[in-house]
Amino acid sequence: MRLIIHRGAREIGGSCVELKTKNTRLLIDFGLPLVENDNKSFDLKAIIDKRIDGILISHSHLDHYGLLQYIDSNIPVYMSQGAKSLIDVSKLFLPVKIDNINAQVIGNKQPFQIGDFKITPYLVDHSAFDAFAFLIEAEGKRLFYSGDFRAHGRKAVLFKQLVDNPPKDIDCLLMEGSALGRDDAQYKTESEVEKRFIEILKERANITFLFASSQNIDRIVSAYRACLKADSIFVIDIYTAFILDKLSKVSKRIPQFNWKNIRVKFLKSHANALVKAGYRDLLFTYNKSKIDMIEINRNKNKILMLTRDNSVFPLIIKGIKGVTGARIAYSMWDGYLTEEFRKFCKSKGLNLEYIHTSGHATTEDLKTFAAALKPKHLIPIHTFDAEKYPKWFENVKILRDGEELVL
Ligand SMILES: [Zn+2]
Repeated sequence: MRLIIHRGAREIGGSCVELKTKNTRLLIDFGLPLVENDNKSFDLKAIIDKRIDGILISHSHLDHYGLLQYIDSNIPVYMSQGAKSLIDVSKLFLPVKIDNINAQVIGNKQPFQIGDFKITPYLVDHSAFDAFAFLIEAEGKRLFYSGDFRAHGRKAVLFKQLVDNPPKDIDCLLMEGSALGRDDAQYKTESEVEKRFIEILKERANITFLFASSQNIDRIVSAYRACLKADSIFVIDIYTAFILDKLSKVSKRIPQFNWKNIRVKFLKSHANALVKAGYRDLLFTYNKSKIDMIEINRNKNKILMLTRDNSVFPLIIKGIKGVTGARIAYSMWDGYLTEEFRKFCKSKGLNLEYIHTSGHATTEDLKTFAAALKPKHLIPIHTFDAEKYPKWFENVKILRDGEELVL
């Protein structure tokens, strides 16, 4: 088995790994880069011009699947049902259009074959819903690709199961290290985030705005649970209602627009996107849970309103009577939190608080993971700190993007 990390050996984002045997060529993840760099070794054309027998997508974050827009629509692309649903939703609402792929749904611990490769998906705890790691076997070698994962989300039990009962005889572990050495987070787990939401809502000071990704289902669930416990109303938008609706076929435990304490605020752009995609009927359905600004104002001190930092937010603020002292629970990666937005909040008297926990494993959890899998080679991926791996882990082999390793 031959391994090439085309991109991701020394950066977070743009992951793309190739595995090759005599007869089969496989890609794992095919993502858009998150950082600009002088990565001259990444040659998209060279990668897609040769025959590809299959592509495995670990999860529905753009830095793992965003390049699918460039591939031949006949190539089978393997992913979880949750990832497929979220990629389908994204194409209606997001600028990256991925609508013509040959998606094949695969299941947790259900092995399947692509040419010479036997692949077993392992469901993992990550901020992307329904994320997989992969065990890949061929020519007598066993490789484990961690994908992105953590041990402190709502599915932490998956981490425990994996380290308690790890796949044996791993020749090569490709392990992410996004959060390596950065364990200074104030909120250590998803349940601590939920707890802080409850505290804020119980203060009943004013409306609380939640800045979070609608695709971070763990966070949406935390927000919803907090609203139930603090007797508050969770106001979502049409885009979020649609995502939750789509995921209902994956899990019956995902909150839905018509559940207790959930209401839907209509935004014109979202409504238009649904109509354009042929979902006009859904607008009538969601209308049953609709909430308008009058009702929001009347109940503002018991409302948690999901929103984002975009052109709509100042308009929403304008619609709130007496917005001074309103809270913002900023609950996404702080790289998005600009100085400009902080200034805007200050000028409006909004009380901004950073309440977030990472989608990625802590150094301690990565150590537990690596120790459980005991690979012959541990190869850093999806990290800016590849050169620090030997300090924390054994048997580290650092690759360069484009370098070939024969297992
Ligand atoms: Zn991710």
